[in-house]
Amino acid sequence: MRMPVLFVGHGNPMNAIERNAFHLGWAAVATRLPRPKAILCVSAHWETQGAAVTAAERPATIHDFYGFPQALFDVRYPAPGDPALAARVAALVTSERVRLDPGRGLDHGAWSVLIAMHPGADVPVVQLGMDTRLPGAHHLALARQLAPLRDEGVLILGSGNIVHNLALFDFRDPAPLDWALAADASIRGMIAERRHDALAAFAERPESRLAVPTPEHFLPLLYAVALQQPGEGAEFFNVSIPGSISMTSVLIGARAEG
Ligand code: ZN
Repeated sequence: MRMPVLFVGHGNPMNAIERNAFHLGWAAVATRLPRPKAILCVSAHWETQGAAVTAAERPATIHDFYGFPQALFDVRYPAPGDPALAARVAALVTSERVRLDPGRGLDHGAWSVLIAMHPGADVPVVQLGMDTRLPGAHHLALARQLAPLRDEGVLILGSGNIVHNLALFDFRDPAPLDWALAADASIRGMIAERRHDALAAFAERPESRLAVPTPEHFLPLLYAVALQQPGEGAEFFNVSIPGSISMTSVLIGARAEG
C-alpha cells in the first residue's frame, strides 16, 4: 500500500510534553497510518545550503530553542537514523546533489511531533534539510522526486506552520488574529483545490507579508502537497489559529478524493 503523506503545524515546542489538543491530534493521526518502515522529516528548523539529509546511525536530540522549562531540555528522542534511507534520498534526487550529513541530529520540528506519533522512538528517522533561499517551485520539484519512497513504506512528514509570524505573537492573548484566520483559510482552499503551483508562489501573494514573513515554516507544506497523486484526498486536522500562528495540519492520501 502507498503510504499517506503528512504535514503538521508544530508551533510551540511545549506541545511535545503537554498533552494538549495538538499533541493528541498528532498521536491520533499516527494510529490511522500503516506503521512506517522509516520517516523522512522535512522540518522548518533545518535550513541548509543545497539539499542535505541526516546520515547518522544514532542522531542526537537537538534542543534548538531558548527560554523553555528544563523539562523540555531533558527530553531525548532516541529514534535510530537510517543511513540507507539517506543514501536512497540522495539517489532519488537527480536534479541536484544531496549532501549526506553524518553529524546532524533531530531538531524540535521533528521530535516534538514524533514523540506524540511514535512515543517509543522505534521508527528510524531521517531529516531532509531545505535551502530556504530557493523559491517554492524549486522545493515542489525536488519533493516530487521522492514519490517512490511512498511505495517503500516511508512516511514523508513536513513539519512547519502554514501561517507563522512570531514577531506578532502575543503570549498574553493568543486569540486568532483576523489576517491569520484569512490566510489560513486561503491556504486551506488552495490545498483543497490542489493548486500546488499557486501554493509554491506564496512569496507573490500580498497576504504572505504578514502570514509568511520568512519561508522556512511554510516550505515543508510543499513537500507534502507535491506528493499528492491523482484521486488522493487531503484532510485537515488540528485546524486552530493561536494568535499569529496556524496549527493547521494536512493528511494526504489516506482517503480517496471527494
Ligand atoms: Zn518552528
